[in-house]
Amino acid sequence: MGRYTGPVCKLCRREGKKLFLKGERCHSDKCSFERKKYRPGQHGQSRSRKSNYAIQLREKQKIKAIYSILENQFRNYFEVADHQKGVTGNNLMKILERRLDNVVFRLGFAVSRSQARQMVNHGHFLVNGRKIDIPSYQVEPGDTIKVKESSRKMKAIHESMQRIRGEHSLPWLILNKGKMEGVFVQVPERDQIDLDVNEQLVVELYSK
Ligand code: SF4
Repeated sequence: MGRYTGPVCKLCRREGKKLFLKGERCHSDKCSFERKKYRPGQHGQSRSRKSNYAIQLREKQKIKAIYSILENQFRNYFEVADHQKGVTGNNLMKILERRLDNVVFRLGFAVSRSQARQMVNHGHFLVNGRKIDIPSYQVEPGDTIKVKESSRKMKAIHESMQRIRGEHSLPWLILNKGKMEGVFVQVPERDQIDLDVNEQLVVELYSK
């Protein structure tokens, strides 16, 4: 599956908020959103009233940018979510959180989802002892995600893990820093997913 390869900081400016797509840089004064808090392009600084459709579309684009997913795959996730029991928007967010690249990022092995995706692509992780190099792989409750033995000295992983102080704070993950492995204990509930997005707008958009 493809991924967005354009300038990521532009995505934050387009959505009018920080999406934290670049790891440490997002928390520094190098963040371009801090310097230019207006939309990119010729009319970026002009105010315009948004239609309902535009608001729904922007919310979808925001979620796609956060998880670094292109339209086709996102639409497929929506179809799966829509066929599951329960609230479609919640189901969608749960599917996104179960992606292996997201779990690697959430465990702290990478500073951003895009870095996590690259690491997974390069085969640095084992799931239940088996090498998985598919970023979209859906992690199941009880799965163990481990840094491969030969990748344990990787600078990027160590630098990322240095950011974790004390216990890992996400209730659906258990991290063993010493062993460089984590367990995906359960699929998080929507209120445990700390993202300021309104997935219901995506449901409304696709239901038209
Ligand atoms: Fe967004 Fe991070 Fe770029 Fe800032 S540095 S604009 S938060 S991706």
